[in-house]
Amino acid sequence: MKSVQGIILHQTGGATAESSFNSYKNGAAGAHFLVDKDGTIYQTASVYQQTWHVGKLRSRCLAELSCSAAEQHQASRFDPTGTHRREMTKSVPNRYPSNQDSIGIEIVGQALPLNEPNPDKRIYETLSTQQKESLDWLIRHLTLSLKISTKEIFRHPTVSYKNNSEAATATW
Ligand SMILES: [Zn+2]
Repeated sequence: MKSVQGIILHQTGGATAESSFNSYKNGAAGAHFLVDKDGTIYQTASVYQQTWHVGKLRSRCLAELSCSAAEQHQASRFDPTGTHRREMTKSVPNRYPSNQDSIGIEIVGQALPLNEPNPDKRIYETLSTQQKESLDWLIRHLTLSLKISTKEIFRHPTVSYKNNSEAATATW
């Protein structure tokens, strides 16, 4: 990555760190850090390497009520591909941090109940106390060492189209 502009917080959907390592081995897109249930932090990619953890960006000006009239009109249509394309012509902080310029932190945690057929209706587990402490430490170190603004830290569903409860109990 040429520059790191932000941090995106995720939950893995798996019960253990091993399930994430296995999916990374099988070519899954990955992220930069993985925080296990017991608070262990694994670095899974160099912070200078781009990983694919974000997906299509939502309109930031729509969420933050700062769009021009023309853009407001465009952005309020549900068009993830078009919205993403328009967002990527901007730079942070006018758009959300993307795969090109953000660190991804995955926190081990499932979305429950597993037998709920609609994945959007599952609710991600609450972070453990150890995960909260490790996340706090990791974010403090990353923001200081890479000079990332704490205003540019987001949960995955804020920046992209994901289950709203993902990383909902993460704080920073
Ligand atoms: Zn995610």
